[in-house]
Amino acid sequence: MTAQSHFFQALREKAGPCLIQHPWTIAQINSSNINLLSRKNLAANLLERILPLFEVSEELTRFAGLQPLFEGINLLDPHYCRGDEALRMLGKCQGLNDFQREKLAGVVMLFMEIVKKTNLNSLQLKTFEILTLWWKIFQEHEVWVALQWLWQEGVTVPHSQNGFRAWWRFSHGSLPDSKNISESHPKIWIAICEEQTVFNSAFEADRMAAAFSGDGRYADLAGVCGDLPDCDNCELNAECLWYANEGNTAMVTIEEKIQRNQISAEDIPELMRWLLTSNPEEAEALQASLNRGAPLKDWSREGLRDLEKQQPLDSKLILRVEAMRELCKNYGIEKLKPQDQFSSSRDIFNHFHQQLSRKKQEQFIIVLLDNKHRYLAEEDVSKGILNKSLVHPREVFASAIEHRAAALICIHNHPSGDPEPSQEDLRITERLVEVGKLVGIPVLDHVIVGNESYTSFADQGLL
Ligand code: SF4
Repeated sequence: MTAQSHFFQALREKAGPCLIQHPWTIAQINSSNINLLSRKNLAANLLERILPLFEVSEELTRFAGLQPLFEGINLLDPHYCRGDEALRMLGKCQGLNDFQREKLAGVVMLFMEIVKKTNLNSLQLKTFEILTLWWKIFQEHEVWVALQWLWQEGVTVPHSQNGFRAWWRFSHGSLPDSKNISESHPKIWIAICEEQTVFNSAFEADRMAAAFSGDGRYADLAGVCGDLPDCDNCELNAECLWYANEGNTAMVTIEEKIQRNQISAEDIPELMRWLLTSNPEEAEALQASLNRGAPLKDWSREGLRDLEKQQPLDSKLILRVEAMRELCKNYGIEKLKPQDQFSSSRDIFNHFHQQLSRKKQEQFIIVLLDNKHRYLAEEDVSKGILNKSLVHPREVFASAIEHRAAALICIHNHPSGDPEPSQEDLRITERLVEVGKLVGIPVLDHVIVGNESYTSFADQGLL
């Protein structure tokens, strides 16, 4: 048995019963009846699908500007149609440029050839010879789209790109190369499906692989071999080459590493390139910048200037880098909820570190607590160089009284990264502690957040 048949055999025996009985797959397979398609509908739907691919303005429709094309394509005789006839018909349309006319004339001629050869019989429409004509109509990178479209029109051709990917993973242990059109061409998949005897038809084999790869997820049919394969829970894993290769990371692409959950620290530069840009020039500039060594968290706005200078004015690369930094920074931040409790100054540092440690200005925050020292609210008191006028007891305690707080904790950051308290920090704290005693809302701690460390006034006995 070949590796490719093995996939279908295993699929049928191990994963098949529940997939076959699911209403989604039953409905899909039962749609495979032979029928004659309406030329008028098929032609109109084809033109609607193709026009955007040639960037024909949305304002041009079968009712406005393109009537000669939509009506004429039904009147042409497929046995005697010539290219100049098609061009004449398109010449009567308004708003098309020469390039669009020429391309659409090619589509019309190919469609006439298909009509002539098949009489739009749905069985003949999916032979290899005819599929090749469909793929010419849709252009090289649209070949899977062509199959999807045909299926929607009622031609039951195997068309699951995800099913193909699951099969490829299983029998090759890798992903098909999406940039290599001959490796990822659906004709491989159709041929494979047609060879399968364990299912009743190539279409049924395709639908089973589709369900297995997650295509039916909107119908509550969870497929294990989807974008992120759940190999540990897969009934096929004992025979799967992808699963067997899990430990072998040599020559594995970044996409495969993401899917295998194998991203390590060395992969971060490549992962960033993959995430941030598909433009080769941007990728090259980014690579050079990453090679200079600073990890993402150390890339300041200033540090990105060199990279920015190399980009065209309309490039969004720097913005995307900044967006990624923001995402990373905020990923670990969890909003405090009423009733949450801090049990030590370390808890306070852990919670505010992400939020404060990279601020370029000092920021003074108070956390208000109830009589059991549980979280009530959090308030920003000031931003900027801290001094007595910016952190006035009036601002701090007005908020505490408004929330009926029983105690509070002060937190602020040192943009220098050094958490050692300044003389001004000591004076401000002393004043707040005094006022706290007077109004009956004690200051329990003042934590200064540095780069990777902190100072707690309570721990240091400074309160
Ligand atoms: S073991 Fe993983 S990769 Fe292989 S078929 Fe199952 S889900 Fe897909």
